[in-house]
Amino acid sequence: MPRNAESTAFRSALEVIRGVEPRVADAIGAELADQRESLKLIASENYASPATLLAMGNWFSDKYAEGTIGRRFYAGCQNVDTVEALAAEHARELFGATHAYVQPHSGIDANLVAFWAILADRVEAPALKRAQARHVNDLTEADWFALRRELGDQRMLGMSLDAGGHLTHGFRPNISGKMFDQRSYGTDPATGLVDYDKVAETAREFRPLVLVAGYSAYPRKVNFRIMREIADSVGATFMVDMAHFAGLVAGRVFTGDFDPVPHAHIVTTTTHKSLRGPRGGLVLCGPELADQVDRGCPMVLGGPLPHVMAAKAVALAEARQPDFADYARQVVDNAQALAEGLLRRGARLVTGGTDNHLVLIDVTGYGLTGRQAEQALLDSGIVTNRNAVPQDPNGAWYTSGIRIGTPALTTRGLGTAEMDTTAELIHTVLSQTSAGVGPDGTTSKAKYVLDPALADKVSRQASELLTGFPLYPDVELG
Ligand SMILES: *Cc1c(COP(=O)(O)O)cnc(C)c1O
Repeated sequence: MPRNAESTAFRSALEVIRGVEPRVADAIGAELADQRESLKLIASENYASPATLLAMGNWFSDKYAEGTIGRRFYAGCQNVDTVEALAAEHARELFGATHAYVQPHSGIDANLVAFWAILADRVEAPALKRAQARHVNDLTEADWFALRRELGDQRMLGMSLDAGGHLTHGFRPNISGKMFDQRSYGTDPATGLVDYDKVAETAREFRPLVLVAGYSAYPRKVNFRIMREIADSVGATFMVDMAHFAGLVAGRVFTGDFDPVPHAHIVTTTTHKSLRGPRGGLVLCGPELADQVDRGCPMVLGGPLPHVMAAKAVALAEARQPDFADYARQVVDNAQALAEGLLRRGARLVTGGTDNHLVLIDVTGYGLTGRQAEQALLDSGIVTNRNAVPQDPNGAWYTSGIRIGTPALTTRGLGTAEMDTTAELIHTVLSQTSAGVGPDGTTSKAKYVLDPALADKVSRQASELLTGFPLYPDVELG
């Protein structure tokens, strides 16, 4: 019977849950077992610390705290104030920002808060001002229509989806695509890199209200100083969504021109990706936008999640420790080792490599679609996700890319030698997989052929690779 505090805490929690609905306790246990066994290369995932996880499971979940510190719509928020203030303070100190708003429930929510703050700051919109003066439930139908009319033709310039941009940067499947008239900038077809002259040219033509930088699938650094100059040249507000690479900013891998905080008017992020915190988001900004940002709840957010803010405070405190900088450097070293290992074996990579935490393999080099490659790797115990590549010939559903990232495996302690083995496993699977034939006799974009014996062999090799790097080594559920 393990006696350490972490094992005791999680075992006791599961015992209590099992007393009410055993299937939930079983699913939680099974999730840990699955995460321990899989070679997790999903670039947006990580493993939060036991302290971060435990900070979420408590009575803070029972508290309503609409509004923010000093302006609550509910009484009795003194302890919520304590954790919200702590999380904000850690965020400000960690990122060198003057203001931090730590309530967003996710990255999408953080972006919505930022968009509304920018609109309120920049647009002469009486209906918006009326909306902000009141509780969202008190708005009439006419208010909403007036708001839609006023905001209808504001412009946003962001990175295109196939170059690695995010849906929330003005694309149709997301509400931002309805809030803004959007145009995007891509990457140079020859190098795969952001072409700043082209961004400047598009900005001059399009005159956006908001210029957005940030990505989910671009394997390189972005020069935020240049992007800010472009924004200034057309009078745009410059926003950076660092959801994917916040951990590299926190760990001081991205500094100077590559640190978004000193250059952007407003920065948003998730807290659960490379930053390694709980599932959530936050917004950083200067004093000009702070008041509007603080109106995030109830303007666009439901009641804050105080238990998650408590976990954010814990995770941000962890990220301020010196060993988090070592972690962030190792994340990039590992991504580069993985890229080199793949290139050496003949893989084709978008931009030819990486200088952040992710690598984008162009699997058309293996004669596959992203969907086929993703499934074949999954059969072989390697968890990745398919992703479009620039000018993707297979579209956004099948795609031609596999996105892999190192934040999670680096948290487990894997290093550059293990990344080379990982590259070997990935290359083996992809080079041994072939496209299947569809019902009409043509090459399928979804079906694939992979010898199950090979998939099993690679799965075993993947779990062997992980045996030296236990996940949550101090947690034994028994
Ligand atoms: C992941 C991501 C988001 C969305 O985060 P959620 O927490 O899933 O809402 C937003 N922007 C970018 C750039 C991201 O990578």
